[in-house]
Amino acid sequence: MNASTLTKSLEFLIDELPEIAPLDEYHRALVSHVHPMNWQNPEPPPRHNLVVIGAGTAGLGARGALVEKRLIGGDCLNVGCMPSKALLRAARAYADPRDAESYGVGVPAGVTVDFPAVMGRMRQLRAKITTHGSAKRFQSMGADVFLGEARFTGPEIIEVDGRTLRCKQAVIATGARAVAPPTFLLLGE
Ligand SMILES: Cc1cc2nc3c(=O)[nH]c(=O)nc-3n(C[C@H](O)[C@H](O)[C@H](O)COP(=O)(O)OP(=O)(O)OC[C@H]3O[C@@H](n4cnc5c(N)ncnc54)[C@H](O)[C@@H]3O)c2cc1C
Repeated sequence: MNASTLTKSLEFLIDELPEIAPLDEYHRALVSHVHPMNWQNPEPPPRHNLVVIGAGTAGLGARGALVEKRLIGGDCLNVGCMPSKALLRAARAYADPRDAESYGVGVPAGVTVDFPAVMGRMRQLRAKITTHGSAKRFQSMGADVFLGEARFTGPEIIEVDGRTLRCKQAVIATGARAVAPPTFLLLGE
């Protein structure tokens, strides 16, 4: 795949995965780890002992087949635990000099926040960490990694990206979505 094809494909991927915008060097690195564009799904064996649907925190580490439709690492690695801590650390870096006087420490006035730089640092750290949670790494640990949406078509049959996976057991580790209780909805947006 040459560079221009990759750029086009990544731009196309943004429609499905808006969380990879902007397409800077860090997001390109992230995608190359957790949703590689040139990934070849393996030829499935006649039957897997275990198929895990969803490569978030709950699904990672399984031996057998691992299926992920978006980004390996799920919420925790890509939008939750890890990125939020990078932002909290930046908030602390801002708050410490702001509050320093109360500790008897004088700091010259004029502490500012460069929010794009804060986000850039977060993307850089996240891209680095995803080398530990990459498709290649899980493959090297013995998992058959499939990128695509898994769908049951029978009690022991799962379709992914035109391939049929047969399994003795399956784990559905597809995450959760927040639901606002009806009473709260009355409060409006
Ligand atoms: C801002 C924020 C901060 C957080 N901080 C922390 C923290 O500090 N500590 C902590 O313990 N927790 C934290 N969490 C919670 C943590 O992110 C979640 O508990 C964790 O990600 C849940 O993992 P999971 O594997 O169950 O689900 P997910 O991470 O949602 O993974 C499920 C995966 O399944 C995939 N999937 C869904 N359907 C299919 C399908 N049909 N085929 C293939 N793949 C599919 C999805 O694409 C997804 O990647 C935080 C969450 C947020 C939002």
